[in-house]
Amino acid sequence: MNIRNFAIIAHIDHGKSTLADRIMEMTATITKRQASAQLLNSMAVEQAHGVTVKSRTVRNIYHADDGQDYEFNFIDTPGHVDFNYEVEKSLSATEGAILLVDATQGVQAQTVANYRLARKTGIVVLPVVNKVDSASAEVDKTEHQIRTAFPELKDSPILRISAKTGAGVHDVLEVIVHRLPAPTADNSLPLKALVFDSEYDAFQGVIAYVRLFDGGLSAQNSLTLMASNRSFKAKEIGILTPNRLSQKKLAAGDVGYVITGLKDPQLVRVGDTLTETGRPTETALPGYAPAQSMVFAGVYPQDDYPTLKDAITKLALNDPSLHVTAAVSDALGPGFYCGFLGIFHLQIIKERLHDEYGVDVIVTAPNVTYQVTPNNGSGAVLTVTNPQHFPDFNTIEQVEEPMMRIELTTPAELLNDVMSLANQHKGVFVDMTNQDELVVLTYTIPLSEIAYSFFNELKSLTHGYASLSTSFANYAPADVVRVDVQINYAKVDALTFITHRNDVADQAQKLVHKLKYVVPRRLYPMPVQAIVEGKAIARVDIPPLRKNAAVNGNSYSVSKKQQLLRRQNSNKREAAHSDIELPQAVFNAILTLE
Ligand code: GDP
Ligand code: MG
Repeated sequence: MNIRNFAIIAHIDHGKSTLADRIMEMTATITKRQASAQLLNSMAVEQAHGVTVKSRTVRNIYHADDGQDYEFNFIDTPGHVDFNYEVEKSLSATEGAILLVDATQGVQAQTVANYRLARKTGIVVLPVVNKVDSASAEVDKTEHQIRTAFPELKDSPILRISAKTGAGVHDVLEVIVHRLPAPTADNSLPLKALVFDSEYDAFQGVIAYVRLFDGGLSAQNSLTLMASNRSFKAKEIGILTPNRLSQKKLAAGDVGYVITGLKDPQLVRVGDTLTETGRPTETALPGYAPAQSMVFAGVYPQDDYPTLKDAITKLALNDPSLHVTAAVSDALGPGFYCGFLGIFHLQIIKERLHDEYGVDVIVTAPNVTYQVTPNNGSGAVLTVTNPQHFPDFNTIEQVEEPMMRIELTTPAELLNDVMSLANQHKGVFVDMTNQDELVVLTYTIPLSEIAYSFFNELKSLTHGYASLSTSFANYAPADVVRVDVQINYAKVDALTFITHRNDVADQAQKLVHKLKYVVPRRLYPMPVQAIVEGKAIARVDIPPLRKNAAVNGNSYSVSKKQQLLRRQNSNKREAAHSDIELPQAVFNAILTLE
């Protein structure tokens, strides 16, 4: 069989999922009717945001112009900057990628970032200009951008298509046949398969998605995961269409799935090499570095803890880039402290908890990781991800914060706006390069400055014309302080956050004023204070509740009124120690500080 394994890489909204649907339609995998709702974006969050979150695989059979049938294994990859990690995993299971560029937008930051990931993996890249049907398409200009941005592609023709109407898509299929290499896989060698993704199923255990580099895979043989050194007998093997379709055998070069039956997801690590126990391959594949959490936040139940525990455990099994540890807050009770790939990932998890498990949560203000050296001379460095564990100022020698290297791609006329945004966020200019009317700016910038709202600020400042790609640079010394928040003289642990000393006075003022409106009032006035290094640096008093509970008569006693008020509020989360309610808005107040 002729095999072609490929992915489509693109900046978000450049038409990847639409092209994938068109390809499936033209290879007779799905009918037009099924294609109406994008087939590959099946999670509710993916439908809601119109983005791919998780990589998916589909096998199609393409009857090519040369009269032969080709097995196309297509791996769909996420487009959001938070999920570059997923993209890299998927690309290493392919021989080539279609680099899709929207003719109405041109080359964007994720186009460049994904192209680099593809180069790193050493696969063939096929450039394609999409949306040529659109009235605002600038096809020649986009083609020129591709030529200047990616000089290595000079020998590659650039196709012009409309994924929407299907125009030109036939040529894409032919180019996949003729320009992408068939996998150089040898069926006679011992099995060597890459686990490029995994999924957890409550009944079946861990399902591994594999790309066979050498050797065949048969359901009868005992298999071994080389890194975790664990052997098992597969319950089932097969291909993805995109639904699972069971097969007796997979051949070298194929992409498919293995139902391992293993219940512990730690054993089936993405990047591991699967081989045959009785006839193992000599060398494992290189594998991947594990996903790094960039942003941390507490996740606490609005209702009961066991339901959240169950839901978040299941989610973490399916999403190896979500890191979860149990945590207890005085204010919010038992919950979890979680590590995310970025703020978008956090939002996706929150929505999946709601959509897939019916669980509503309180998410505390997100935080990055700090490296803290205590001044006790021990030399030991503490890694602090939870601000509640940030040591007292008088015990600290030095704090280091994570710095990112970012590339901002912007139209030249917006250059000044973008540069001043980067400056406002403590960006340090590194480099600037021009490509036609596009400028690529490189900065190093604290992760804490770009982790939360930077991406959205950039989007709205530039009406969506500028784009961002990020990578970790290093840890650098930082002058940061811990801000504790007291409500009615009691510290509310879940509100503690870390910020730069230069910003703290301003942020503390803004915060207490915001809290004045979002902390639910009581019958008595309550002071709200921000405490830094033992001193209250900002304070407001939350006025007492108007006696609305008593409006229909003065006959209630004070305790009756309180009872009534308590009942009115009984469906809201209350701070365990002080009877202060902490709705999500209280935590959002920290998140939205400038
Ligand atoms: P993805 O984020 O790369 O997966 O992009 P999608 O496939 O979800 O497409 C983003 C938007 O562009 C959707 O509204 C599509 O309908 C639209 N789109 C995709 N391809 C074309 C095309 O060829 N022409 C036009 N006019 N719109 C397109
Ligand atoms: Mg998509």
